[in-house]
Amino acid sequence: MISCMAAAPEPQALLSFADARHLVEEHAAKLRPSGKELVELVEGNGQILAEPVLADRNFPPFPRAMRDGYAVRSADIGQLPATLTVIGEIKAGAADDAIPALKPGDAAVIMTGAPAPPGADAVVMVEHTSRQGNQVQITKGVARGDNIVAAGSEAKRGERLLPPGVRLDYAAIAVAAAAGRSRLLVYRRPQVAVLATGDEIVDLDVLPAANQIRNSNSYSLAAQVEAAGGEAVLLPVAPDEPARLHELMADGFESDLLLLAGGVSMGKYDLVEQVLGEFGAEFFFTGALIQPGKPVVFGRVPRGAGAARDRSPSAPAHTYFFGLPGNPVSTMVTFELFVRPIVESLAGRTPQKLAFVHARLKAEIRTKTGLTRFLPAIFSGEFDRGEVELAPWHGSGDMAGMARSNCYLVVPPDRERIAAGEWVAVLLR
Ligand code: AMP
Ligand code: MG
Repeated sequence: MISCMAAAPEPQALLSFADARHLVEEHAAKLRPSGKELVELVEGNGQILAEPVLADRNFPPFPRAMRDGYAVRSADIGQLPATLTVIGEIKAGAADDAIPALKPGDAAVIMTGAPAPPGADAVVMVEHTSRQGNQVQITKGVARGDNIVAAGSEAKRGERLLPPGVRLDYAAIAVAAAAGRSRLLVYRRPQVAVLATGDEIVDLDVLPAANQIRNSNSYSLAAQVEAAGGEAVLLPVAPDEPARLHELMADGFESDLLLLAGGVSMGKYDLVEQVLGEFGAEFFFTGALIQPGKPVVFGRVPRGAGAARDRSPSAPAHTYFFGLPGNPVSTMVTFELFVRPIVESLAGRTPQKLAFVHARLKAEIRTKTGLTRFLPAIFSGEFDRGEVELAPWHGSGDMAGMARSNCYLVVPPDRERIAAGEWVAVLLR
């Protein structure tokens, strides 16, 4: 039976940005993915590796020339210019019996990617040589080891090239390919339920009346969930009515994580926290000193709160939830700041710290102190002259302004004014 009389949570916790983030990170560190699956190599792009990838041979498998030029014995090039006898040519892919050994005074023509011959300990770039018949004159000195990558120096056979928990990107996929892995074991993506709330919100199949607003939050959240490695499960929009909200939340708690959007402010019909209380929710914070997104809520309910949830002993003891403020930009920002680490951990990724980059501020900013602000901004410039300025926008409802931005400018809570030319923190997106 649904009780509409359940008490709203103690409004205990309004945390600083850093404290709220750290608290989420602590919880994220304890979460585990629910299973593994085998995928084709490129299909695994963006997923989290669930096994180590081992070197099946030495990397590189032979001492590899890094330049086109001449394989030499560095001891022969004490005096410049040095003249050496060319005894052969080694191309990439040359078999052992096509590789001449170098005696003192010898050199061999060698191509990038070819095995360095026995006796050689350096390669002189072709640019620093001149050739006459079977003689080559070396005009620039080399040290032992120059332009040769020793066999096994990148990794020895059997060594771990990639640990479980890394997100597969193009570099990791290259490594897996080089180790002969055409399939990889990755973690199963967590299911993340998305529940938009609000009497005024209608979904895309409905022509909105003048007083109605189209649901955009479910879709931005779905895109963010997928980008973080999860699988979004969109629930129907919930009205500001406790019984129906309860019913839809119960559906949401069947997923690995529930994201609610809207209904967490102080308004009379902001019912989300009250209805979460009916599930025995534990609240870790009910606000963070940020803008946009201050009313953000983070907590968990005991396992089994969902209607038909897996109640096996291996299932986690809790299901986490977030109540995100419904203003579209607030929803997006609070996902990036707080939800992302939880989704990533459920997806099996090794926990990541949030790091900002720095750029020069293009035009002065004035704000009020007290909140850490994550303001839609435009990062531009070229090469090492990156600069950033606030994007024109009309507050946290302005998703079109947000879409014209490409990053968040981070204003610390103690700054009222930041002058043009100062270094500022930026969160790229
Ligand atoms: P709330 O957080 O419920 O107070 O909502 C704050 C603002 O965000 C209101 O203007 C809502 O109409 C708007 N809003 C809430 N949910 C959504 C949604 N799913 N899609 C678009 N706008 C929303
Ligand atoms: Mg609302």
